[in-house]
Amino acid sequence: MPIDATAPYDDQNVFAKILRREIPAATVYEDDYALAFNDITPQAPAHILVIPKGPYVSWDDFSARGSDAEIAGFVRAVGTVARAAGLVAPGYRLLANIGAHGGQEVAHLHVHILAGRPLGPMVAR
Ligand code: 5GP
Repeated sequence: MPIDATAPYDDQNVFAKILRREIPAATVYEDDYALAFNDITPQAPAHILVIPKGPYVSWDDFSARGSDAEIAGFVRAVGTVARAAGLVAPGYRLLANIGAHGGQEVAHLHVHILAGRPLGPMVAR
């Protein structure tokens, strides 16, 4: 069910549990600012989620409260993961869902990296 992106951060969300190593994930990258792992229900041949290590609900929350170092570190990590996976050619898509209309289901900021086939229209029509 989509979340309310204006709600306070809930540290019981599934990605907080992955960050605390309480539940497993297929990790592909980690640094001081970000963790990247394969989506459990991939929607493309490559479907990687990149999350910041800090407690941020959404891109909106992160861009408002995150430090410059956290934001720079996270944005660089997304690029590093995509390059390391060899996705720059032939290309990939970044997606960050925010709140109910965005279809956000997990209340910890995550950027989807989708790739491996032509991804079609940007949104459902
Ligand atoms: P959202 O709709 O919030 O943008 O996307 C949430 C994503 O998290 C979905 O693509 C879903 O498959 C993925 N997901 C949900 N629970 C888990 C989990 O426990 N492990 C992993 N690896 N991915 C998850």
